[in-house]
Amino acid sequence: MLLNLMEYHWAEQIDDALLLLSRSDIKTVPLAGGTYLLGQRDDSIQAVVDLRDLELSYITEDARGVHIGAMTTLQNMVESPLLQEFAGGILVQAALASSFSRLIRNSATIGGTLGAGTASQADVLTALAVLSAEVVVRSASKTQVNLSGGTLERPGLALSGVTFKGKHERHILLSSLAMDRRPSELMIEVLVPRPGAASGAVFRRVGRTPTDVALLNVAALVQITDGVYQRVRLAFGGVNMDVQRIFAIERQLEGQPVPAADIFSKQIVPVVQSCMDDFRPSSDFRASADYRRVSGTSMAYHALEEATNNALRGDMASSEGSK
Ligand SMILES: Cc1cc2nc3c(=O)[nH]c(=O)nc-3n(C[C@H](O)[C@H](O)[C@H](O)COP(=O)(O)OP(=O)(O)OC[C@H]3O[C@@H](n4cnc5c(N)ncnc54)[C@H](O)[C@@H]3O)c2cc1C
Repeated sequence: MLLNLMEYHWAEQIDDALLLLSRSDIKTVPLAGGTYLLGQRDDSIQAVVDLRDLELSYITEDARGVHIGAMTTLQNMVESPLLQEFAGGILVQAALASSFSRLIRNSATIGGTLGAGTASQADVLTALAVLSAEVVVRSASKTQVNLSGGTLERPGLALSGVTFKGKHERHILLSSLAMDRRPSELMIEVLVPRPGAASGAVFRRVGRTPTDVALLNVAALVQITDGVYQRVRLAFGGVNMDVQRIFAIERQLEGQPVPAADIFSKQIVPVVQSCMDDFRPSSDFRASADYRRVSGTSMAYHALEEATNNALRGDMASSEGSK
């Protein structure tokens, strides 16, 4: 419950929403699907700006990649034909797994999921991390100044109380969103670059039941050129966990030849095992850090193997994901 909520704004233009969010005297926050925000006990929030009419619900593609508007719901993502073929469909699988309740997926948006961050427990964050997604954020400012009347050479009228409105847009890597985003910035969209040719992507998860939150999830993306790993991305996530890229595995494999199928496990298992010290998962009542690290080793190996096979087939196909 937001007990000190005094104002509800239904913005029709992005600029109006930005100006409301830029106010320093009244703490104002964006309201997307409301599935997270409205359940919060936050007495500091005094106003909300409803984003539903801002036309930020879209999934399109251009030369830079796929653009997912901040108000796109998880269900829109699941049903999107574009995302079903994009990156082996891992965004669709992860959006579906983020909440197995269709009721929640119909309301919960990608912007709200990113806004809630780790608290959302959403699998989609792990998939976005390996796809090097960026978040486009925008902010606004409004300043009142008194203009002087020009110079002797170029005389002009003095004006008082002139209002300047300014806008600022920037791209933030998803991995640094929590640190870099300012409270007055509105997330406009998520930009996901299309993985290059001969790429393979995989998303897998493990939970107590198929529809429970993920105790651990893993996403992998590999790109292979002339039999060599050109790009490797591997990340873990799960309930109560920040998404963690395992940079050591990525660095060790990039530039290395892809092992033949009969020696794949012999060569890749030791690499994965030697790099798992970098993975420092948390413990909670659902799973210990040790459980997550041990399962993670096997999940990372299988994700890399499957992503490699998909890349070699060149079809960006991916697994259904183990649940
Ligand atoms: C019964 C229930 C079950 C749930 N189960 C799950 C689950 O299984 N898995 C899961 O992932 N989540 C779950 N959630 C949590 C919630 O659904 C997610 O966190 C959801 O993705 C939030 O999206 P939303 O659009 O509802 O965001 P909101 O609740 O509207 O907002 C979330 C936060 O993001 C900010 N925000 C929203 N949009 C923007 C924007 N464009 N720019 C900047 N900031 C923004 C808001 O100010 C707020 O701080 C559950 C919630 C409920 C009520």
